[in-house]
Amino acid sequence: MTQLFEAPAPVLAATSDGNQFPVRRIFCIGRNYAAHAREMGRDPDREAPFFFTKWAETVVPSGATIAYPGETANFHYEAELVVAIDKPGRNIAAADALGHVYGYATGLDMTRRDLQLEAREKGRPWDTGKNVEQSSPLGLIHPVAEVGHPDSGSIRLTVNGAVKQDADLNELIWDVQDVIAYVSRFYRLEPGDLIYTGTPAGVGAVVQGDAIVVSIAGLSDCAVTVGAPAND
Ligand code: MN
Repeated sequence: MTQLFEAPAPVLAATSDGNQFPVRRIFCIGRNYAAHAREMGRDPDREAPFFFTKWAETVVPSGATIAYPGETANFHYEAELVVAIDKPGRNIAAADALGHVYGYATGLDMTRRDLQLEAREKGRPWDTGKNVEQSSPLGLIHPVAEVGHPDSGSIRLTVNGAVKQDADLNELIWDVQDVIAYVSRFYRLEPGDLIYTGTPAGVGAVVQGDAIVVSIAGLSDCAVTVGAPAND
């Protein structure tokens, strides 16, 4: 038998100490800061956690220029704390969850908001709104040995230097332990999985040429520029 074509190599995310973290899957928690849930028209007090998934290949490193995607006129930034998993587990207890974490990074969950909201209203999947090419920019992954488990501190996003999102990690409704426990009820977590933990209030649209920077206290920034639409 002949393998018909070459399988893609895994996406390798850079760590702060010079290693490569092979990305396996991406889980994204929705509406995990109360003020953002409200700006999206939802009552955070009434919601159980939920998540959606994105392909690993949507990860791009900080410093990248990301193409403005097709089929949208409302391409949004979402600044997020990202958890990198390096130990497998199913039905992980919250008390054990942090033992499955390799480290933490800043990230962006870039979103075709118009398509996401249309899908939401029609009860359709969010794939075209969320699982967008180059939509998961990621800063350096800092090992737990270096940064511990950040549960408070500034999370901030600027566009062309202007502050658009400015919150604290202690405002997460479902913290890192909770989200690991929750996702692992549905899927066996595997080394290489990333969990994007949700975005604070202040989401908004970007246009070609905009420079986005996500900063989280104690972690490296994640910075990207919005480029021209892809035409390849
Ligand atoms: Mn998000």
